[in-house]
Amino acid sequence: MTNPQDIIRLIDGVTNDEVALINKSYLFAEKSHEGQKRHSGEKYFLHVFETAKILAELGMGAVTVSAGLLHDVVEDCGVSLETIEKEFGKEIAFLVDGVTKLGNVKYRGADRHNESLRKLFVAMSEDIRVLMIKLSDRLHNMRTLSYVPKEKQLRIATETLEIYAPIAYRLGIRKLNRELEDLAFPYVYPKEYEDLKNLMKEGQRERHDSLEKFIQSVKKALAKEGLIKVKTDYRVKGLYSLYKKLLQKKDIEKIYDINAVRMIVETTQDCYRALGVVHATWRPLPGRIKDYIAFPKLNGYQGIHTTIFTGDGNIVEVQIKTNEMHTYSEYGVASHISYKKDKVGKDEETIGWIRSLLPKNKNTEGIRTTLNASKDIPSFIQELVTYQENSSEATSFDDHLKNDFFSKRIFAFSPKGDVVDLPIDSTPIDFAYTIHSDIGNHMLGAKVNGKLASLDTKLQNGDIVDIMTRPSAKANQKWIDMCKTSTAKRHIRIELSKRQKTKQ
Ligand code: MN
Repeated sequence: MTNPQDIIRLIDGVTNDEVALINKSYLFAEKSHEGQKRHSGEKYFLHVFETAKILAELGMGAVTVSAGLLHDVVEDCGVSLETIEKEFGKEIAFLVDGVTKLGNVKYRGADRHNESLRKLFVAMSEDIRVLMIKLSDRLHNMRTLSYVPKEKQLRIATETLEIYAPIAYRLGIRKLNRELEDLAFPYVYPKEYEDLKNLMKEGQRERHDSLEKFIQSVKKALAKEGLIKVKTDYRVKGLYSLYKKLLQKKDIEKIYDINAVRMIVETTQDCYRALGVVHATWRPLPGRIKDYIAFPKLNGYQGIHTTIFTGDGNIVEVQIKTNEMHTYSEYGVASHISYKKDKVGKDEETIGWIRSLLPKNKNTEGIRTTLNASKDIPSFIQELVTYQENSSEATSFDDHLKNDFFSKRIFAFSPKGDVVDLPIDSTPIDFAYTIHSDIGNHMLGAKVNGKLASLDTKLQNGDIVDIMTRPSAKANQKWIDMCKTSTAKRHIRIELSKRQKTKQ
């Protein structure tokens, strides 16, 4: 039996009003989905209930959790958005509407579209809370994927692997990323999954015993030095992430972080003391000691990593962190975001995306004027935005900002759904020239979200831009000041000088 209390108790510092809100959404969703069943044969309501629970576990507030309960009532129960707004207010209606719209974005099955699709997805969400609901919805659908008809499984799992998991990764929600990947892996690469699973099974018992023994010895050694309040555990690398690493490294013997022992200590000083104890007791592998406390990764990740010989033939990675550092690495921006395989600039791209998704009192249509939205968003997401601003790496970050192509981008769409990414403050003129110089040169006017807009309108994330052209229409000198991109400016100048020449 489900119970609203199962969700409510997961929300920190929940107020009476919020409890009432969740109870109301719970009952509304339960009633709306009455009689509907999942492929598993279970009540449909169980799906939205689990989605809301995942949201609460991720630290989302009562408004997002309620929207999570209601996320399928418009799509699946024919409840109107007006009803949602009347019963639950504008904010929840906005979130439910966002999730419903996102439901129409589908994986197209071509790799070259994936990056656009991720961008489209993020831009269409408009608000990070919509994205969080969609990710939680997907996580529950993946947990129950075995009940879904075979012919649908592959598409859903591929979409999860190509679109949803990378988004969770870039948001720094490592936990979510890992679970989505490992749930999708067996459906997308069944043979590779089986092989790897069998490979990992070999010697699993011994590895486990050896690690347990090692953890006991570490604890003893630390206690001898007065480090008593130490939490230790170990994590096994997710199978899919191991699979990806194997594609690069080929040899499983060369992957040293399949098993990592985590030591959570109380203070930063304790991290260094613990490292001293570990190195004094076990021989470290040269070249694998990394001090991410003194030198945090660009994405904010902190901790000390070292790899040691356990003495019984095993090699293990040891990660030493404080509690704060650990939480940050599971939920925060610290998710190894592309720091190895991609250019540094990708980090700022991520930050840029996320910044654009935070509810700001944006007065378009008067929808997003929620004053308490910040309360509804867990601090780990807010930190994504402030981290870079307060970073001790401010200088280098500013440098990146100056040259970084991606640092401040928005994503707008053609009426057909093509994604165009542009610098912030771009106008329909930029949009037109980005698609094709001919379109720019013969632009008559533009519609933004279905309404006629002046050519100097600053485009917003998610805007749908329809450029109207006519063969007789001509580029205008004034446009140069109205656009942002150098591409547009250059094309306008070329066009104007061409015309000048033909006149003479
Ligand atoms: Mn759903």
